[in-house]
Amino acid sequence: MQIFETRDDLQKTLATCRQSGQHIGLVPTMGNLHEGHLALVDAARKQSQYVLSTIFVNPLQFGPGEDLDNYPKTLESDYELLASRHCDGVFVPSVSEMYPNGINNQTLVSVPTLSRHHCGLSRPGHFEGVCTIVSKLFNLTMPDMAFFGEKDYQQLQIIKKMTTDLCIPVKVVGVPTQRTESGLAMSSRNNYLEDRQVSIAANLQRSLKMTMEKLKQGETNFSALELDAGEFLTTAGLKVDYFNISHAVTLEPAGARDSNLVILAAVFLGKTRLIDNIRVQL
Ligand code: AMP
Repeated sequence: MQIFETRDDLQKTLATCRQSGQHIGLVPTMGNLHEGHLALVDAARKQSQYVLSTIFVNPLQFGPGEDLDNYPKTLESDYELLASRHCDGVFVPSVSEMYPNGINNQTLVSVPTLSRHHCGLSRPGHFEGVCTIVSKLFNLTMPDMAFFGEKDYQQLQIIKKMTTDLCIPVKVVGVPTQRTESGLAMSSRNNYLEDRQVSIAANLQRSLKMTMEKLKQGETNFSALELDAGEFLTTAGLKVDYFNISHAVTLEPAGARDSNLVILAAVFLGKTRLIDNIRVQL
């Protein structure tokens, strides 16, 4: 597996790939890789000749007081995992390689409508940071396809819209959420959890499934369902950031007539913030 630290080296290799007709599949990550990330690599492997992963903890998408400085870094084992899934190359730029003019003097990309609820509300500026780094990676690597996890449902919808709205010729592909046996969505942030917290965290998916069942049974009082789920999570020992029954495309609060839904939730367990979601088709 090739390891690139500079944009120049990366772009030279990718230009050669393109000239020889290879399709490039991009898998952007922040590292500390687990089976969730590797499912994206597997999906890319099936659909592209050259699979490029990127590992970059993007300071622009972290707010003050968030976990930028403590974000887990496990580069050597990340390389091993990527190579074991037949990834062809990995791009591991420094912050100055990605932001040569500094992060405070950076052009920003924003998708305001889809960013106004859920994580966008709790983490101001987060999605501008995500859209900006993803645009930069798209422009640098010009992939045919790019793979993102459904675990970050709002992020996936935002990146799809950004790509369409800005006429970026990349096909954005969503990959289903990988979970542990208890149902907990895999996440690098699960590493922050103590053993006893891991079993508490599994209640997040439970609350989503329980609410989905009630929706399927015909319950139409969405606010009451959101309150019930909030109580369930609080009783389980989780602090609710949000629990929202939303329209799956607009991400706006769902109305009683909507049938294409997603339930989006974020909770805190101690200082650790966890997110999850479930699609519901009525
Ligand atoms: P991150 O390193 O957390 O920025 O995630 C990089 C990519 O992996 C994003 O597209 C995530 O949505 C995706 N991802 C993270 N966790 C999972 C998971 N449990 N299942 C599927 N995809 C995931």
